[in-house]
Amino acid sequence: MQTYQQILVAVDFNQSIAKVIERAQLIAGNGNSKLSLIHVVEPAPVDFLDQTMLVDMNLDRLLFKTASQQMQKLATNHQIDSSDCYLEAGSVKSEIFSKIEMLDADLLVVGSHGRHGFGLLLGSTANSVLHGASCDVLAVRVNE
Ligand code: AMP
Repeated sequence: MQTYQQILVAVDFNQSIAKVIERAQLIAGNGNSKLSLIHVVEPAPVDFLDQTMLVDMNLDRLLFKTASQQMQKLATNHQIDSSDCYLEAGSVKSEIFSKIEMLDADLLVVGSHGRHGFGLLLGSTANSVLHGASCDVLAVRVNE
């Protein structure tokens, strides 16, 4: 059986994401598979904007800049070339799906939190990408 050629890791900036990236790197082996990261910056909720003094600060631009710095940190910590790190704005699910198509990825790796009760009702990114992804999906269990 062939190994994965292109692995895409969807990252948030929780501490636990290190475990998810390390698991993906283990699967990638020593340069046998290409590994890329994606983080999606979701637009700031308008209701929130209306109620704060941040309206004039262009919050979306601020979020994007902060995310870019955090992505750079992840790339450095895990020795991933910054040209393999993608920062997109929009809906997490659809941006991840577009990146899978663009890169022709054959494995998507996400973190999965063991949620119970109300947390479970809210759903998770892992759940949402599992249905509809055009490639294999690995959900790495991480602790809250
Ligand atoms: P969640 O269930 O939404 O807490 O997130 C679980 C996993 O989804 C994280 O460990 C990441 O792998 C991925 N993820 C969450 N948010 C994002 C995001 N904004 N961009 C890319 N991946 C994300």
